[in-house]
Amino acid sequence: MREESEKGEKKPTKEKRIPVFIMGQKYEVPEGFTILNAIEYAGYQLKRGVGCREGFCGACATVYRLPGDYKLRGGLACQTVVQPGMYITQIPFTPAQKATYDIEKLKPDVTTFQKFYPEVFRCLGCNACSKVCPQELDVMGYIQAIMRGDIQMAANMSFDCIMCGLCTMRCPAEMAQYNIAILARRLYGRYLSPKSEFLEVRLKEIEEGKFEEQFKEIMSLSKEELRKRYVERDINFKIT
Ligand code: SF4
Ligand code: SF4
Repeated sequence: MREESEKGEKKPTKEKRIPVFIMGQKYEVPEGFTILNAIEYAGYQLKRGVGCREGFCGACATVYRLPGDYKLRGGLACQTVVQPGMYITQIPFTPAQKATYDIEKLKPDVTTFQKFYPEVFRCLGCNACSKVCPQELDVMGYIQAIMRGDIQMAANMSFDCIMCGLCTMRCPAEMAQYNIAILARRLYGRYLSPKSEFLEVRLKEIEEGKFEEQFKEIMSLSKEELRKRYVERDINFKIT
């Protein structure tokens, strides 16, 4: 809770404080703070488990419980507001199964998932993954698309995944949905997405050195000149 000073700066007011438990320790923190604000307010310095602070990077997965509520809940620390009596634990990293493969040697069909992520086919249809997803993705839906071999649908449905790992922590079938979805998007990008003629032409031109002089000129610009060029640039879209 902040108010504007005469100069327009934000300054703290005498906020109402609420009790929360961070890593098992009780603290009084200002009402309206996010979990991330509260953790730092309590004196913790986060070196892992924090990134963009704006809800895009997926680094600050947190689990919490509310008083009188049996559910273990999850969210991003930078987006979830504290509530009185909340028990909070920060998850710096989610250990998860991650297959290694050469995308050039894979087939864009269900057999690839049977080979690298057989746990997909243990999905119970419980929807716990979708309920916890801070991006509000239909996680169960994209996993079931993979089970049907519909890679395009899985790639599209999982496109906004920020890899926070919360779905994986809740999954009773113990799969890493976000790593599985990345394989779907890679297969789609490598084998199934429509080819752009415009892109092929431009890549050939780059390989032939058509833009070497322009690259050199750009590399010689100052930061200010680069910023000016960026702001003034023309953007041409050609949809084929
Ligand atoms: S799909 Fe899973 S890893 Fe991706 S944003 Fe949702 S909860 Fe996080
Ligand atoms: S949490 Fe796991 S088992 Fe449940 S629907 Fe999602 S992928 Fe399937």
